[in-house]
Amino acid sequence: MKPDHPAHVAPVDAAARKAIAPVICYPVEGLPRPDLTPYLAAREGWVPVSETLVPAREARCFSVPAGHFFRIVSVEGPQVGDLNLWAAGDLRERFYSGKTRALHGTHLSSGDRMWSSFPTLRPMATITDDTLDWYGFDAFGGSVHDVIGTRCDPYTHNLLSDGGQYHHCCHSNLTRALADHTGLSLPEAEPHVHDVLNVFMCTGFTRDTGQYFMKASPVRPGDHLEFFAEIDLIGGLSACPGGDCSSEHSSDAAACHPLLVQVFRPLAPPVGWVGPAVNGYDRSHGR
Ligand SMILES: [Zn+2]
Repeated sequence: MKPDHPAHVAPVDAAARKAIAPVICYPVEGLPRPDLTPYLAAREGWVPVSETLVPAREARCFSVPAGHFFRIVSVEGPQVGDLNLWAAGDLRERFYSGKTRALHGTHLSSGDRMWSSFPTLRPMATITDDTLDWYGFDAFGGSVHDVIGTRCDPYTHNLLSDGGQYHHCCHSNLTRALADHTGLSLPEAEPHVHDVLNVFMCTGFTRDTGQYFMKASPVRPGDHLEFFAEIDLIGGLSACPGGDCSSEHSSDAAACHPLLVQVFRPLAPPVGWVGPAVNGYDRSHGR
């Protein structure tokens, strides 16, 4: 946080420097938004192929072939979910929260994409429907489905709770789920867990101090966030021990609910859809 009493005196032109208008880092003209029309049309007559119920304070992994859709559905009560994505054939290609944030902003919705890590940097999934898109930004600067948080984890909890040990943070839940899904040991699985898309979570930064905040999620049973898998995926979803994240996480105090993952196979791929190739940079790095 910035100090209340800076150690250094502002220069004479401080006001002029602060008055310079910002420019968008990655103008959207360079990255056209996908036309969702063929994606939405491909849902007509789709066939449900699997369901995974993620229990409260636990995580589960699920497979989604390229060209299929999947939905994360609120059931029973308000609940946020921490989502990881991996390329099914190579766990090293995984969701890159920071670059997705740089490209699409702090909170995602329909038409945004979940981008993969270097060196592939390509769309792993496209968000095709968001029943909470009406929320926009609230008066506090909060919104839903953020890529600004990380995932609740037992290490930060240990730091902030005088040595506390809690085993159902999203980080540990995802570690166990990935180990169960792949056969990896826990020490092998843990490094593959990464920063998440905070599905249904309502977050922002305080305007005065820039601190990360959360508030009760507006999600209600029946709401969903829907994705189209651009490549073969393994998804990992944790039903966060924070529940609707209205008060705290990293404990068993909050009311928590399960989340449902549904996978659908369309009768035919979206018209004109071609799976994304890996990134075109030649990786010579100037040598
Ligand atoms: Zn969590």
